[in-house]
Amino acid sequence: MKKRLMTGFTPTGKLHLGHFVGNLENLLKLKSEYDSYLLLADTHALTTLKDNPAIIKQHTQDVLLDLLSVGLSETEVTYYVESEIPEIYEMSSFFSMYVSHNRALRNPTIKDEIKMKGLGEQFSLGFINYPMFQAADILCVKGEIVPVGIDQEAHLEQSREIAREFNRLAGKDILPEPKALIGRVGKLIGTDGNPKMSKSLGNTIYLSATEEEVEKKVMSMYTDPTRLKATDPGHVEGNPVFIYLDAFAPAQEREQIGKYKELYKLGQVGDVEVKKYLIKILNDFLAPIRKRREEYNNPELLKKIMKQGSEKVQTETRLVLSELKQVLGMNY
Ligand code: ATP
Ligand code: MG
Repeated sequence: MKKRLMTGFTPTGKLHLGHFVGNLENLLKLKSEYDSYLLLADTHALTTLKDNPAIIKQHTQDVLLDLLSVGLSETEVTYYVESEIPEIYEMSSFFSMYVSHNRALRNPTIKDEIKMKGLGEQFSLGFINYPMFQAADILCVKGEIVPVGIDQEAHLEQSREIAREFNRLAGKDILPEPKALIGRVGKLIGTDGNPKMSKSLGNTIYLSATEEEVEKKVMSMYTDPTRLKATDPGHVEGNPVFIYLDAFAPAQEREQIGKYKELYKLGQVGDVEVKKYLIKILNDFLAPIRKRREEYNNPELLKKIMKQGSEKVQTETRLVLSELKQVLGMNY
């Protein structure tokens, strides 16, 4: 029997280049080796979109379309929507009883996101409960391997603790301890130089960007703030232009990229020339994704894919929930 792979996306906006190197690439590699489940975590999106909930439905469709467009066909992976499976909420309520308030607040990703998203003191209880909810997202399909970006590692640790706790209560292994599989680039830098490209920060290049949008985004990108003229020696490290070239150029471009890096460090090539080269690389990378998007861009088809996958997952999740309730003696 194939092992279970599970991962999820919060529909707070469209998917971007960071998602590609953070986890889509691993999904494409592993989708047939594993029994693969992909979650559209619409309830999670309320952590940042609670005042504009109507937009979440559109984002959920957009994210599904992004995933299908990169080559994750519904015939190879199962898609499910969080809010279509109320058993996830039941499970997360049980899980939250087994995590102390202190432990929840100690989560380093929660701390980072409060800072990064400027949430101040105004974050919701649901935001703190996010990792317990995520544990239910994963364990409701008994996910064993979870391809994610580096920011999710702390949440996965929480899921493992919860699985261990329930296995201890059950006196046997009823839940897997899900392992994170971090992508080739665990955290892709944003176009503004922020360490994380994030849909919540608007420093993205979307997988659905048109050629013109890519051009505009790249031309206005942050590069090396210490370099005032093209003849000043420049920095390649930490410079998003070179980071994106390394991440998205095909192997045959390596030599050219090496040359540009040397020239840039010597102050012998301008930002504009390297940016133009990056625009070409990114547009070539996005071309097949754009093509597949046209085939899937049909709201009725997207709806059907969500419905069918969610029904399949709900059947399984009911069984997992009843196992957990049995452990808790809630089988009246
Ligand atoms: P939000 O800010 O709303 O949480 P996000 O951009 O972090 O949005 P998610 O849907 O939370 O997107 O993340 C989906 C997956 O993509 C996760 O596994 C996450 O780790 C990964 N990911 C997100 N941004 C990046 C990035 N910049 N680099 C690498 N991986 C990323
Ligand atoms: Mg996130």
